This record gives sequence, C-alpha cells and structure tokens, in this order.
Amino acid sequence: MDTIFAEATPPGRGGVSVVRLSGPDSHAVLQTLVGAVPEARRAYLRAVRDGDDLIDRALVLWFPEGHSFTGEEVAEFHLHGAPVISTRLAEALLARGLRRADAGEFSKRAFLNGRMDLAEAEGLSDLLSAETEAQRKLAMRTADGELGQKADELRSKLIRAGALVEASIDFADEEVPEEVPAEVYSLIDSVRHDISMMLKAYPATERLRQGYEVAIIGPPNAGKSSLLNRIAQREFALVSDIAGTTRDILELRTDLRGLPVTFLDTAGLRESADPVEAMGVKRATERAEQADLRIHLSESPDVSTLRVDGDFVVRSKADLGFGNGISISSKTGEGVAELLDMVYDSLRVKAADSGLVGHRRQAEALERARDALDISAGTEPEFLAEALRSAVLGLASMVGRVGAEDYLDEIFSSFCIGK
Ligand code: GDP
Repeated sequence: MDTIFAEATPPGRGGVSVVRLSGPDSHAVLQTLVGAVPEARRAYLRAVRDGDDLIDRALVLWFPEGHSFTGEEVAEFHLHGAPVISTRLAEALLARGLRRADAGEFSKRAFLNGRMDLAEAEGLSDLLSAETEAQRKLAMRTADGELGQKADELRSKLIRAGALVEASIDFADEEVPEEVPAEVYSLIDSVRHDISMMLKAYPATERLRQGYEVAIIGPPNAGKSSLLNRIAQREFALVSDIAGTTRDILELRTDLRGLPVTFLDTAGLRESADPVEAMGVKRATERAEQADLRIHLSESPDVSTLRVDGDFVVRSKADLGFGNGISISSKTGEGVAELLDMVYDSLRVKAADSGLVGHRRQAEALERARDALDISAGTEPEFLAEALRSAVLGLASMVGRVGAEDYLDEIFSSFCIGK
C-alpha cells in the first residue's frame, strides 16, 4: 500500500480545510513537515513547513496504525480554508512521493483492513449522499453496523444448528438411526422468519434510500407545470397555455418534511401527430407508471387510465369555480398545502415499512441464504449440514465478509474524493 492524501473538505474557500494522509509514510512525512509529531489522536497547533516556506499554522492530528479510520497510519492537517494553502501542501506531499487518493479510497482501505464491513461502507456512502432526515436516519443505522449485528445474530443461530446436526451425524451408528434434534428446526425456522421479514421490507427500504417519485399527470393545459411551480415556490417549469409545452420530464427534488420526494412534471397525455410530443407522452406514461404515486390533475373530473389504488385525483384551477373532491388552484395556492399533506401521509406509510436491507446486493445475498434454508423436515443430516453452511455463507456475503471483490469498485467509486 502506498501513502495517499486528499482534501477531506469540499473544494473552495471556507473556515477550515482538512487534508488527510493515509499509509505507511504518513508518520515520516508528517515529521518532515511539522517537526515534532503530535501525541496520538490529539490536536496540536503546528507550523507546517516545506523547507523554509511556512505553508500555514494548522491543527495537526496523528493516528497510529490500528487506531485510525483506515486502520493505517493517518495524519490530518486542519488548514486555514483558502484553496491556495491546501494546493501548496499538496505540492509538498507530491514532492515527497505521496499520491492523490481516488474517490472512496480511504473507505476502501478501511474495509480492506477490517475497520468496517461492506454493508457499513454502503451505509456510509448513503449517509454522505443523504438529502433528507429520513435518509439520514436509515443510512446512519447501516453505517453504524446494525446489519452486521443482525447478520451475526442469525449466523450464530445457524452455526449452533449446524453443530447439532454434525453431532447427530457423528454419534449415529447402525443400531440408532440418525436423528436431528428438534432444536435444529426451531433455529432454522426463527432465522427463516427474520430473513423473510428483512426481505419483505427491502423494496420499501430501497425506495426510501433512493427517494420517492410522484408523477403529476393529466391532459395538456390541466395546470401540471403550474402546480410544480407552486410546489417549488419558484418558476421551475415553463407555463404556457399552448398545449404540449412540456415534452421532457421535469424533476423537482424536494424534502417533504424529511422524506425525499421528486415531483415529476410530464407531457400532457393526449394523442399527438407531432412525433416529438408523442415521444414525450410515451415517456411520461412509462415514468408515471413506475412512480410511487400519481397525481391525476385535470379541470374536469376525467380520470386517466394510469390510475392505481392510492393515487390522487385532483381538480385544477379551483379559482375558476370548479370543485368537488380534492381541488387546488396553483394561481391562489388554495388546496396545495392539503394536497402535499396527503402526499406526505401516503409516502410516510410506505416509509414505515422500511427496514435495514436497502441495497440490491444485500438483498440478493440474503435471498441466497433464504433459498439455502428452504429445506423440509426429514432432510438427510448431511444435506442439512450443507444447507446450513450455504446459508451462513449467504449471510456473510450480505455484509461483505466473503465474495466482496466483485463489488468493491462499484461501491467505493461512488464515494467522493477524500472519503
Ligand atoms: P400543463 O400543460 O398541464 O403543464 O398546464 P400549465 O401549468 O402550463 O397551465 C396551462 C394554463 O392554465 C396556463 O395558461 C396557466 O396559467 C393556467 N393555469 C394553471 N393553473 C391555474 C390555476 O390554478 N388557475 C388558473 N386560473 N389558471 C391556471
């Protein structure tokens, strides 16, 4: 492993900018730049010098091997937050043979050194990209190792079951037929139950992690773009009384009281001879079908064919005197807050079904464990032992203790530089 460095704080001007080093040369390089290396894990103010040049006076931290985020020797410089200062330090580090870190490289090293499991790394990645409170909470639980703990709990049950099965194989002789103790089946049942609960919650967890989509659909000129602008509280979409104005799908990302919600403004649903508009309508239809929820907006009470249970049918332009059921006016704002309340309530119910497993990779490994445990009573002990071993393997791969290699690049490259 070579020694890497990166700015851990975002580029640009700020109060403080943190530059982090990790790898076997960290101590030596730190010593040349600051003289006396600070006591481990304590912040000291030091003059940071490259030869005669005083780069900055900075808070410096030193983490010995085994006591750092990456598990390697790590040093941190908390510099004054002007880009020229960190650039000057980078120059000094490059001159001493250090290399700029790739995206996620610190976290990847932490994983490779056993400082965190793969599920925690995924949680950390989610945490860094969380935009709303609900996403933060979800990511924090995984980053904090809850999934690993759950995997351990299930794993130890399966290992106990495996030991009981092995014992029954070992003690069997010709006179006494092999018999698997009842406890084995109750252990398997309890693990199966927990796994199926986790898998059941997976779709809801995934949705919460990625964010919800609410499509606003309806005929041209229904007021879809105007509603989107009302929600955005600014001119986000182009509003015009020329039907067929919106052709691409506009996405408005919002934080709806802690839930990540993207509202989609779509092309008005109508038959069109214009090929570009027709393409827009096709896309709108497909996207609306996949959305978590649809707001069917129209001036008259016609309901589109895309309606799914739980969707909202809303009358637009309430200021012009229509109304019955849910109606809104994007002009006066009437009814819009109530509509958002309903959207929030509906998505909150979906979010309440979420659990811990929110990544496809995790779910697939868990499915392997579930499938391995799909055994009927009376299975030969040898097969039973084998099934238990595969299930343990499935759980281990869920948290990346085995078979992680294929996923490393994909997971860590989605991190930002400096993490
Ligand atoms: P879209 O085609 O469904 O996106 O509809 P737009 O938002 O572009 O609106 C079409 C026309 O209806 C525009 O002239 C808007 O000014 C008008 N409009 C939209 N919402 C309202 C409303 O709540 N009240 C009134 N009076 N006019 C509206």
